[in-house]
Amino acid sequence: MRLVFLGPPGAGKGTQSEKLSKELNIPHISTGDIFRKNIKEQTTLGIKAKEYMDKGLLVPDDIVVEIVKTRLLESDCKEGFMLDGFPRTEIQAKALDNALKEMGLKLDCVINIEVPSEELISRLTGRRVCKECGTIYHIKYDPPKIEGICGLCGGQLIQRDDDTRETVERRLKVYRAETEPLIKYYTDKNILITLDGNKDAEEVFEDLKGAIRGCI
Ligand code: ADP
Ligand code: AMP
Repeated sequence: MRLVFLGPPGAGKGTQSEKLSKELNIPHISTGDIFRKNIKEQTTLGIKAKEYMDKGLLVPDDIVVEIVKTRLLESDCKEGFMLDGFPRTEIQAKALDNALKEMGLKLDCVINIEVPSEELISRLTGRRVCKECGTIYHIKYDPPKIEGICGLCGGQLIQRDDDTRETVERRLKVYRAETEPLIKYYTDKNILITLDGNKDAEEVFEDLKGAIRGCI
């Protein structure tokens, strides 16, 4: 199963792909997570990516495409993968098509998660993530049992640097301008499935499992 999760920041792509990755036992590839890991390790890539991320802008296409192409060649992607946060521009979408074509593969479906803008802002500003294992929480919608502590690994929960109100608004604008056109791109390829993400995360997950049954 080769999937792409599409949708604005805060739609629940990470939440749903974490769950689906466990259920299907295929890797969840988040370009945002790859950049954050590099920032933590202070690699050259991380230092470069942070310049863009802190401003709510997209990291240049050539950098992201190279990372994803390399990642897809790893052995754990043989049985499939789910991409979260990639592609985000038409250039990236075309590069993905070409890379898969060279590997003799294609995408099975693209899951587009829809959520109204006001809800996205409260989801993003209330998001907390585990510093150690990356598990996603929300102060109201999905709080940890012990405040500030990850229920899975005991790590400290932090707010992402780009989850401030100002940066969130910029990210949503960038999404509308650069990424939203991919809805048409994948609709034209007949592989887009849209889910109502403005429901409880468990309900969205049930809808998601139903949707992918139809595209395997
Ligand atoms: P994305 O990966 O699309 O940016 P996330 O999965 O990180 O989004 O979710 C953003 C925030 O919204 C997180 O704090 C998460 O806990 C919360 N969240 C995710 N799905 C839902 C949902 N269906 N209802 C309420 N909150 C949600
Ligand atoms: P995310 O974790 O998906 O919310 O991504 C966080 C940030 O990482 C984005 O706001 C971008 O700055 C950067 N990023 C992640 N994926 C991409 C991508 N496919 N193209 C460009 N920038 C990206």
